[in-house]
Amino acid sequence: MTGFETDLVYIEKPLANYVHLLREPKSGTVAVVDPGWAEPVIKVLERLQWQPELILLTHHHADHIGGASALKARYGARIIAPLADRHRISEADEWVGDGDSVHIGSARGEVLAVPGHTTGHIAYHFPEQKTLLCGDTLFSLGCGRLFEGTPDDMWQSLSRLSALPDDTKVYCAHEYTEANGRFALSIEPDNKALQSRMEDVKALRAKGLPTVPSTMTMERDANPFLRPHSPEIRARLGMETADDVDVFARIRHMKDQS
Ligand code: ZN
Ligand code: FE
Repeated sequence: MTGFETDLVYIEKPLANYVHLLREPKSGTVAVVDPGWAEPVIKVLERLQWQPELILLTHHHADHIGGASALKARYGARIIAPLADRHRISEADEWVGDGDSVHIGSARGEVLAVPGHTTGHIAYHFPEQKTLLCGDTLFSLGCGRLFEGTPDDMWQSLSRLSALPDDTKVYCAHEYTEANGRFALSIEPDNKALQSRMEDVKALRAKGLPTVPSTMTMERDANPFLRPHSPEIRARLGMETADDVDVFARIRHMKDQS
């Protein structure tokens, strides 16, 4: 048994956030990821009878850190946050940057710097557990808006994530998949993997079920933000000979306007 036990807290309003809960089964160590609000997280932790020791933060936005201080106070949990956000996540106990390790019990995660959505954004990758916590960098069928970084920053970050193993489970921080998928189909309508993912997504959402986590294979095959090389997308945008980063920037711009 090498995986995490997991659960998630869905906070529909205002931003359809997910707070992921991970338990390393050998030690029983529990981590909470990006708790934007404390109350709904506490409710689920109580039901599970899980006591978090760690709070992992991916970036400084309020919908990801707003509940961290209250959880720290209640459970005595340690807050781990991006080094580059040291000046704006003052409640953290430890700051980590690219290449650093974090441990949830015996599970070792590697920190990846993934600037673009914000300049300080990090992701946590647990290779043995095949688990990627990617905040607002990679979404299922989408990616985060470029609030602080450049298209080049984000494209490099997404390319790094996209190189992780096929069966990596992708735990993103928002339930935006269905709207992302509608946009994706508008620029790559003949993509079979995308069509079939959207069928699944619609069925899940109709039952009120999460579309997260997805897998890296699924994202590589269906997420247009990882697919600027796609001949269909390029033809549709009239960018057959452009660089990947320029196609990526155009896709991001079109999504912002959509
Ligand atoms: Zn954000
Ligand atoms: Fe967010």
